[in-house]
Amino acid sequence: MNAESRAGSGFSVIDPPEDGAPGLVLKPGFERVARCWVCGGVRLSRYYECRMDFSEYVEQDPELHQYTGQHVWLVRCAGCGFGQPEALPTLPNFFDRMYDQRWSDAWVQQEFSATYKDLIFDAILNELANRIPPARHRLLDVGAHAGRFMHLAQVRGWTVEGIELNPRTAAYAQAHTGAHVHRVNAHTLALDGHRYDAVVLTDVLEHIPEPTRLLAALAALLEPGGIVAIKVPNGSAQWIKERWLARLTAHRMSLAENLVHVNQFTPRSLVRAVRDAGFRRVQVSAAAPELPAGNGVRGMLDGAVRRAMFAAASFPGAVHTPLALHLQAYGTKGQQ
Ligand SMILES: [Zn+2]
Repeated sequence: MNAESRAGSGFSVIDPPEDGAPGLVLKPGFERVARCWVCGGVRLSRYYECRMDFSEYVEQDPELHQYTGQHVWLVRCAGCGFGQPEALPTLPNFFDRMYDQRWSDAWVQQEFSATYKDLIFDAILNELANRIPPARHRLLDVGAHAGRFMHLAQVRGWTVEGIELNPRTAAYAQAHTGAHVHRVNAHTLALDGHRYDAVVLTDVLEHIPEPTRLLAALAALLEPGGIVAIKVPNGSAQWIKERWLARLTAHRMSLAENLVHVNQFTPRSLVRAVRDAGFRRVQVSAAAPELPAGNGVRGMLDGAVRRAMFAAASFPGAVHTPLALHLQAYGTKGQQ
C-alpha cells in the first residue's frame, strides 16, 4: 500500500501498479489513468491542478454537478512530454454529459456566420489543395459544429460530409450545407465503410480522452494517400503563457478546467501520436490564430499581436517555443 493516507477526508488509497509506477491517493468518483495515452509511459509527474465547476448543470444534470469543487491533477509524461489527467471521473458518459450544451438557435446561427476561425480554415484548405489533386476532393470534418468549415470547403469545390454529435449544431450544419452530417463517432463511420481523401479535426482532438484511439479510426476513414489535418492547442506553450499572465496580472490560471482540454499536446507528442496511428510524412507547425471580432483600437491591437506571434512562431524551429500557442499537424495515410 502507498503510505499516503488522509484519515476522514473521504480519500481512498490504491496499490501502486506492478510496473513500479507510484501509488496514488484517489478521491471517490475518480479512477486512475496509469499510463501515458500517447507513448504508454508510466513516469508521470504532476504539474497543474484543474478545478471543476459544474454549477451551470445543477438542474440539467445533478450527478455531474456533484463534481463541482473537485480538483484533478494534470501529469506530464517524461517519455514524450504529453500532458493528461492523473484520474478521470467514474460518472458514466462524463464527457458526453459535459458537452450536452443546449445552445440557442441564435447562437448556433452566429457560429455559422462568424469569421473568427477563417484564417485557420483557409490555411487548412490551402494546404489540402496543395497535397491532394482536385479529382480526389472528398472531405470529412470531424466535429463539424455549425458547419462553417464544411461551407468554406464547398465554396472551394470539395465534396464534404461532417461528424457532429450535438443534435442542434448537427441539424444546422446539415440544413445550411445540404451535406450529410453524421451523428455517429468516427469508429462507427469507418466500420460502415465510409472513406475520404481528407479528414479534418480543428479544436477537437484536445477534448477526446485516449486520443490515439480516435487517430486510428481516422486512419481507417482515409483512402491510401489521404491526408489528416489536426489543429490543437499547444499544451506546453499554453501552460507557460498562463503562468506568466498569472504572475504579471490579476489573471487566474486556466488550462484544463473541468477537463475540457483533457489532452495537452506538445509538438513532439503530437507527431508521435499521429505517426503511431499509421500516418507517414507527419509535419507539425504553428497553427494560424483565431481572430475574434474586437471593437475599436483594442480589437485591432489584439488581432495584430496574434498575427505577429503567428508569424514569429512560423520561423524554422519556432514551433518548439512558447510562441506557438496552437499546433497544426498533417499526416499522409500509408499506401498499404
Ligand atoms: Zn508519453
